Amino acid sequence: MKLNKCPECRGKIEEKNIDYILLGVNLGKFPTMICSRCREQFYEDSVLDKIDKSAKEKGLWGLEHKTKLNLVGNSLAVRLSKNQIEFGKLKKGEEVIVYPESKNKFIIEVTGFKKS
Ligand SMILES: [Zn+2]
Repeated sequence: MKLNKCPECRGKIEEKNIDYILLGVNLGKFPTMICSRCREQFYEDSVLDKIDKSAKEKGLWGLEHKTKLNLVGNSLAVRLSKNQIEFGKLKKGEEVIVYPESKNKFIIEVTGFKKS
């Protein structure tokens, strides 16, 4: 559905072909409805389907998974899924830094060498 006014702020909508970036990967240019006031972006359903398709083709799908913490000695270990390992090109022994952003959100930052 094409929008004339922004559903958030009633600002004027402009349509442009702009790059869609997901997880740092450019999925290509897609028709995007942009609010000239709050800069919020909107997409038609048919465009969202194309964005999903492009994300799947580029392996940016199924990167979230539910897992349990495993006890290893006195530590807890997190398992990463096959999709996550492939996406990050991660290898056994690669160095990561783990730090909390809050009590229920932890970041795993890969600092080891990465193959491109
Ligand atoms: Zn707006």
